[in-house]
Amino acid sequence: MFACFSPRILLIVAVIGLTLSWTSETAVAQDLPFHMDVPVEGVDSYDPSIPTPESVVGHVIGTRHTTPAEVVEYFRAVARASDRVVLVQHAETYEGNPLIHAIVTSPSNHGRLERIRTANQRLSDAPESVGAEDIAGMPIVVYQGYSIHGDESSGTEAAVLYLYHLAAGRGPAVDDALSEAVVLLDPLFNPDGRDRFVDWVNRNRGRVPVSDTQDREHNQEWPGGRTNHYWFDLNRDWLPAQHPESQGRLRVFHDWRPQILTDHHEMGTGSTFFFQPGIPSRNNPNTPERTFELTGALAEYHARRLDSVGAGYYTRESFDDFYYGKGSTYPDINGAIGVLFEQASSRALVSDSDAGTLHFAFTVRNQFLASLSTLEGAVALRREFLTHQRDFYADAFELADQSAVEAWLIGAKRGRTRAEHLAQLLRRHRVEIHELAGDVRVDGTTYAPGEAFVVPAGQAQYRLLKAAFERTLSYGDSLFYDVSTWTLPLAFDVDFHEVRGDVDELLGQRIDAVMPGGGETHGELGGVAWIMSWQEFYAPSALAEILDRGYAARMMRQEFTAVVDGRNISFPRGSVVIPTVGRYMPGEEPDPAALGSLVEDLADRYHVRFWAAETALTPEGPDLGARSAATLSSPRIGLVTGSGTSSYLSGEAWHAMSERFGLPVSLLEASRIG
Ligand SMILES: [Zn+2]
Repeated sequence: MFACFSPRILLIVAVIGLTLSWTSETAVAQDLPFHMDVPVEGVDSYDPSIPTPESVVGHVIGTRHTTPAEVVEYFRAVARASDRVVLVQHAETYEGNPLIHAIVTSPSNHGRLERIRTANQRLSDAPESVGAEDIAGMPIVVYQGYSIHGDESSGTEAAVLYLYHLAAGRGPAVDDALSEAVVLLDPLFNPDGRDRFVDWVNRNRGRVPVSDTQDREHNQEWPGGRTNHYWFDLNRDWLPAQHPESQGRLRVFHDWRPQILTDHHEMGTGSTFFFQPGIPSRNNPNTPERTFELTGALAEYHARRLDSVGAGYYTRESFDDFYYGKGSTYPDINGAIGVLFEQASSRALVSDSDAGTLHFAFTVRNQFLASLSTLEGAVALRREFLTHQRDFYADAFELADQSAVEAWLIGAKRGRTRAEHLAQLLRRHRVEIHELAGDVRVDGTTYAPGEAFVVPAGQAQYRLLKAAFERTLSYGDSLFYDVSTWTLPLAFDVDFHEVRGDVDELLGQRIDAVMPGGGETHGELGGVAWIMSWQEFYAPSALAEILDRGYAARMMRQEFTAVVDGRNISFPRGSVVIPTVGRYMPGEEPDPAALGSLVEDLADRYHVRFWAAETALTPEGPDLGARSAATLSSPRIGLVTGSGTSSYLSGEAWHAMSERFGLPVSLLEASRIG
């Protein structure tokens, strides 16, 4: 019965079908599951087999703030339903939030994705091998990233809408773009910060949204959602790359080497919309002029989109393009075009301002339109962007050839772990590093094999290295948005020299992964005490474990010499003495072997050095049981935080002690300290 339709009913169904398809072609803007009407030309309809944001997250985008978990859930749902979308988790935050990106391109490009990626890599690794005819057949790679400041939340909402648009859109605007572009869509640059922010606004909002900026929803509690778990500004961490968000993102960036990277932010409520180019006199001189020309060419596409809805915007009046640790500037020194977007923030769902009432959905709309214009411009100027990246890297080899500096030496003899951490940082930027092949003396400092890294100038990342190592003292424009200097060897306090002249004989084996080492134990287990050097970076971690296990430890206040393996070894002030036996109660059995194996384990894990002294009597300086030595005990660390303190400074201290050194830190509320 059910399969048997009368011709009349079939006709009605056909007419309804026609009506529906006609409606969707003319009114596709309303089909976008969004709180506002947005003109989206070149899209005939949206594929109903792709889940809408509302069907997964439970609300129409723009009507409340979407949590990071909801965003990830939506991206997973779309990846399951669409043959244009592959979802990749590239890292995890301190709080366990997944860091994801969707690779969005045509199904046929997905079928040859690895070939596209490796061909794209040749633009930077072997630029001379890529001709115009190769470029003609290459898709452009566009990395679009959102809301690195977690409380600048309209970007991520737009990313949700944009994914739906790319996955479900049917029509030339989407089909053509995805055949000529690979989009890396990264909706959550900073999920931990967004979690704090979204939690705050959603739980401080009544049924009726309040635009009064004195309202609780508009005023986040300390530390706010801008920063990551340890209250670091991730949009200063692209160069130092100290956090999992940055490290994971850089892996994606360098695995792909996109030609464009966009970075969606928010600014003051009373402003309009900003896109780069920024203030021309504040461009970094290491960035070639062509980068800014292409930034300007892309800007015309943003302008056109925003003009189509009458949105206000500006360029060139503010924001510099100087510090390579920012998301919109880092790409500029990697052969790509970085673009900063700044949308006036509603912060809450609706906000009063001098410029009128600002609705969250309005801010999301502008970010969405800037996402569309980025892809439009990328596809239209595809050959220009690809050619620029090839030329950028070809020129880098050329510039390195012309440079008087042939290599840089990083010494690991003093502060070995710090030098290794610097080398690890450089590897995150795909810098080529070598072991030192032979002794070399520069300006009175001797570098020896096993105690230094060599970084040759003649490599693809020459420009980035120059920018990271140079000591600029004068600037064309001495006004900055904020960060003005970042000479990395100074930040890591390592021995460092430029090498002029031929360096071929200095280049030892190329290093892929830098594994910290240098942990050592010297002498026999049967000695009277272990002496630990305090020079190593992770010595505090090793000492904390020794004290936690109940061993006694004392810090020497003066230099001394101790007998180890029959030889006299000198130790500086601050060295730590751990008696092998120490005090014990009647009936207890001392266990020097247990301490010996702990010491070996600590040397291995923390790259610290221990010596077993044969006798407590020292040839020079105080004896090991020195009256002047300080008895050490486990510290109880309290860190004053909360309103009235700087979250950046306290976050930095918290991160160093807890994350780096593994020490328990009590975060004390300033308001509770009398
Ligand atoms: Zn921002």
